[in-house]
Amino acid sequence: MAEGFDRIWAPWRMNYIDGSHKNEGCIFCVKPAQNNDRENLILYRGKSCFTMMNLFPYNNGHIMISPYKHTGDIGNLSDNEMLEIMTLSKKFIKVMKQSINPDGFNAGFNIGRVAGAGVANHLHFHVVPRWNGDTNFMPVLGETKVISEHILKTYDKLKNAINRLEEK
Ligand SMILES: [Zn+2]
Repeated sequence: MAEGFDRIWAPWRMNYIDGSHKNEGCIFCVKPAQNNDRENLILYRGKSCFTMMNLFPYNNGHIMISPYKHTGDIGNLSDNEMLEIMTLSKKFIKVMKQSINPDGFNAGFNIGRVAGAGVANHLHFHVVPRWNGDTNFMPVLGETKVISEHILKTYDKLKNAINRLEEK
């Protein structure tokens, strides 16, 4: 990951990079095991996968969809798990279009530390909303930008939108 850009554009990521904010254990295992979804920024719990906002986002509204299964190897995911990751990404792209109005999205996996995965041993699929005029180059999912809204405010918008979608 381009640490230089983190330092300039996303100083809150520094805690993450220097390890002072390190969680005990794996956040993709620990957080869904707790019963504190708003504080943990968990937006949605599916059958085999869940959706969580990134506490250290590349952009406002950055979410991650992760299997409950602790693995960094995509070969270990079942077809059902892969399908649910894709179904949830489709659902949340719809939710974001309705609630925070992005102009586009980056979506994908960073597989392995060399590819920029912060937690390399538990796969997570990133969906990052983009707006016209925001940071202009993003070779992979490694670019950062100052977020314009408090993260919980965005959480509440997305949570309300997913709840409305599920009620239909
Ligand atoms: Zn894990």
